[in-house]
Amino acid sequence: MYPAAFEYYRATSVPEIVQLLQQHPDGKILAGGHSLLPLMKLRLAEPAALIDIGRVPDLSGIQDAGDSIVVGATTTYWDLLQSEVIRQSLPLITEAANVVGDIQVRNRGTLGGAMAHADPAADMPAVALALDASIKVVGPSGERTIPASEFFVDMFTTALNPDEVLTQIIFPKPQGTSGQAYEKFAHPASGYAVVGVAAFVTLDGGKVQTVRVGITGAGTVAKRASAVEQALAGQEPTEQAIESASAHAAEGLELNGDIFASEEYRAHLARVFTQRALSRAVAAARG
Ligand SMILES: Cc1cc2nc3c(=O)[nH]c(=O)nc-3n(C[C@H](O)[C@H](O)[C@H](O)COP(=O)(O)OP(=O)(O)OC[C@H]3O[C@@H](n4cnc5c(N)ncnc54)[C@H](O)[C@@H]3O)c2cc1C
Repeated sequence: MYPAAFEYYRATSVPEIVQLLQQHPDGKILAGGHSLLPLMKLRLAEPAALIDIGRVPDLSGIQDAGDSIVVGATTTYWDLLQSEVIRQSLPLITEAANVVGDIQVRNRGTLGGAMAHADPAADMPAVALALDASIKVVGPSGERTIPASEFFVDMFTTALNPDEVLTQIIFPKPQGTSGQAYEKFAHPASGYAVVGVAAFVTLDGGKVQTVRVGITGAGTVAKRASAVEQALAGQEPTEQAIESASAHAAEGLELNGDIFASEEYRAHLARVFTQRALSRAVAAARG
C-alpha cells in the first residue's frame, strides 16, 4: 500500500519544529516512523506534511541529571538498551525495551514516539506511569511539563496539543530500597502487549512504602492500578498480600476485547501479571 502524497520537511531545531507545526496544521511529526508510516500506508492517516525530527541534535540522548534521568524524545529503544545509567537506575526501562516488537522496531522506534502515539498496547506508557515520569513538551507559548499520570488521556490521545512537540521524558531516580519489574503477555504476531504490567516498589522496615503499578494493553489507555496500589501500600508484601492486592488490577479499566483476547481474559491477565510483576519488584527490592 502506498501512502497519500505529502510534503516532507526535515527540522534542524526545536524552534523550527514548532514553526513548521504552525505552518502546517495538517502536518505530523515523524520520529522513528514505526507507528505513523504503517497508518499512512493503510490510509488511516493522511497528513499533508511530515516534519522529520530524527536529526534534531538536542532531541536525542540520555543524561544523568543527578536526581533524575532525562531521555530525549528521539532516543530509540536500542539507545535505551545500550545505556548503563538506565540499566543501573531504571532497569524497568531496559526490561521493557527488550521486549518491544523485534530488532528493527527497537532500532528505529523512539521513546518520544511511543509516548506521543499512546497506542493502547504499547509498553512504554505503563513504564512511564510506574516510574512517575514527566513529559516535557514545547509549543508556540513555550515549554510545559506534564506528569505521566495526566499525559495519557485515551486511546491514541494524549495531553499533547497538535502544535506541540514532545522533547524529553524525565524519570526521577529511585531513592531508598526499591525494586522494579515488567511482565508482559505479548501478542505472538506483533509483540505488542495484550497485557503489560510495570511495577515499582520501595520498602521501608519490611513494609511497602511506595507502590506504583502501570497497566497497558488491557484497557483503552495505559493507567495506574490505583486500587492495587492502595491495597498494598503500608503492608508487608507477603505473597498473600500481593495476590489479594492484585485481584483489584482490572478495576477502573475500560477493558479492550478483540478476536485475540476477550475483555474477561484481559482482566484475568491483568490480575495474574500484576501479581507476577509485584512479586518480582519486591524480590528485587529485597535484593
Ligand atoms: C511490527 C511492529 C511491532 C511493534 N511492536 C511493539 C511492541 O511490542 N511494543 C510497543 O510498545 N510498540 C511496538 N511497536 C510500535 C513501536 O514501538 C513504535 O515505533 C513506537 O511506539 C512509536 O515510535 P516512533 O518513533 O516509531 O514514532 P512515529 O511512528 O514516528 O510517530 C508516532 C506518532 O507520534 C507522533 N510523534 C512522534 N514523536 C513525537 C514527538 N517527539 N512529539 C510529538 N509527537 C510525536 C507522530 O506524529 C505520530 O503521530 C511496534 C511497531 C511495529 C511496526
